Amino acid sequence: MQSSNAARAAQTVTRVPGSGSEEMERVAEQTLTRYTFDGVPQRKGKGVAIVWFRNDLRILDNEVLFKAWASSEAVLPVYCVDPRLFGTTHYFGFPKTGALRAQFLIECLIDLKKSLMKRGLNLLIQHGKPEQILPSLAKAYSVHTVYAQKETCSEELNVERLVSKNLQKVILSSAEGVSTKSNSTNSARLELIWGCSMYHIDDLPFSCMSLPDVYTQFRKSVESKSVIRSCIKVPASLGPAPDVKDWECVPEISSLGLQQEKVSKGMAFVGGESAALSRVHEYFWKKDLLRTYKVTRNGMLGPDYSTKFSPWLASGSLSPRFIYHEVKRYEKQREANDSTYWVLFELIWRDYFKFLSIKQGNSLFHAGGPRKVKTNWSQDQALFDAWRDGHTGYPLIDANMKELMTTGFMSNRGRQIVCSFLVRDMGIDWRMGAEWFETCLLDYDPCSNYGNWTYGAGVGNDPREDRYFSIPKQAQNYDPDGEFVAYWLPQLRALPKEKRHFPGMSYIKPIVALKFGNTKPVSNRTTAPGNRRSATEEKWMSRKGNRFQ
Ligand code: FAD
Repeated sequence: MQSSNAARAAQTVTRVPGSGSEEMERVAEQTLTRYTFDGVPQRKGKGVAIVWFRNDLRILDNEVLFKAWASSEAVLPVYCVDPRLFGTTHYFGFPKTGALRAQFLIECLIDLKKSLMKRGLNLLIQHGKPEQILPSLAKAYSVHTVYAQKETCSEELNVERLVSKNLQKVILSSAEGVSTKSNSTNSARLELIWGCSMYHIDDLPFSCMSLPDVYTQFRKSVESKSVIRSCIKVPASLGPAPDVKDWECVPEISSLGLQQEKVSKGMAFVGGESAALSRVHEYFWKKDLLRTYKVTRNGMLGPDYSTKFSPWLASGSLSPRFIYHEVKRYEKQREANDSTYWVLFELIWRDYFKFLSIKQGNSLFHAGGPRKVKTNWSQDQALFDAWRDGHTGYPLIDANMKELMTTGFMSNRGRQIVCSFLVRDMGIDWRMGAEWFETCLLDYDPCSNYGNWTYGAGVGNDPREDRYFSIPKQAQNYDPDGEFVAYWLPQLRALPKEKRHFPGMSYIKPIVALKFGNTKPVSNRTTAPGNRRSATEEKWMSRKGNRFQ
């Protein structure tokens, strides 16, 4: 009986958030109503403005949308399905966007379109490169300004540059007629607006180029010297929209060159702002989980140990400022404690990686990272494949990698462990791991992903973040009964709890030895190629502190 219950539990898919679509819509409407303009709003602009939606797929606290509305008589909201997002990753040619994230994006677009329609607009969906689509729309609709959220990494910056350049070539007709001067100032323009972080870039106590190299210094500075702005309120009606013949449907996944994948086990995230606002409501107010976040946040199994806000934050369907103000509301109405503060502490990490990406530029993506560390990484395909597919022989690694592949999510604890295993125990080039995460993660964001990977690989800007995660120790601390590994590797459930992490002959043989353990590898290699301890690591191991986790 017990084992059939366990088998049933192992097949369960948990929706995040847990509410049904009616409840999600209700929560979203109630939340948006709190952030809607009261009184007669002032709209002083002229002509048509485009909102080019990028990673800001929301209505609440969207300054891009607000500015476009305020500066025009009609707003044209546009999303470009850029083929480059469905190409391959930079070095190793993995799919740039996996099917699960593509599906999440589709759901975000469906929800956004619906929300805009409720407010008298719509979402024009176009397939192609923004630098070609936006200028041609600007011409067709006499658009004076394209408003968009500012991004920070090179691929996105390149698109911004091209859009801006091509818009300058669009000469607008004035009320009196078409301007013929090519050097006329009467051309369409791109206005980029900051909107992805909790602290506004203009409110930092330093320029991004002089950002502190140590997170704690950054955090203490912003906490003492900067103030988090209020959320931008939404006008009740955003219309009228320009006269568009065909607004186009949200794409099917097959038109993105991908095959639909259904989550068969674990967490299934629902895309879109309505789901995002419902998850905040569920985690803070309905389940009261914010009260205990600091104690539970290192868990690995189920939806409730941490907020799970990251997929919506990455797509911009959730504003970090909104989370901040909800935390403050919770602290006033229920309780302020270490846990309520800790969610903000983590969001400051997210901000830090955003701002760091400006300072570090492309070094974030280079093997040596921002510190230009020279390491002899291996790119052994067989070892990498075993890691990627969850066949390393270490249940803690394999279970986490299976969760990533099946759901597009992995806990923060899991990410740190599998990253450390890949780079330190296997000696594999960290960029292979980072690019595989780029493919799979629902919450993929270049700043947080590559920022965390450079730290994990010991090439980040702060050498003190260089850590080895010991599998036996992590298993003992964070999955002592082997529940997490037995969930993802059901063949281990029959074993006694204390054997699930090191099942011996009952499981695949370990593919490499642990660097600081006594497990024998399957081949006659004693360590993975490129896995010799570097001078830095020797130094690091000999220092005191918490680097051996
Ligand atoms: P919670 O614990 O509830 O934290 C709340 C929020 O704080 C998160 O949603 C996230 O926005 C932010 N946050 C928490 N920890 C971090 C962190 N270490 N770095 C940056 N922000 C953080 N996060 C991403 O959003 N996108 C990524 O591509 C990404 N790649 C990662 C790769 C590696 C190797 C590692 C170790 C971490 C990565 N993270 C990434 C950070 C972190 O693992 C996730 O943000 C977190 O697990 C998301 O779950 P949650 O929303 O429940 O987090």
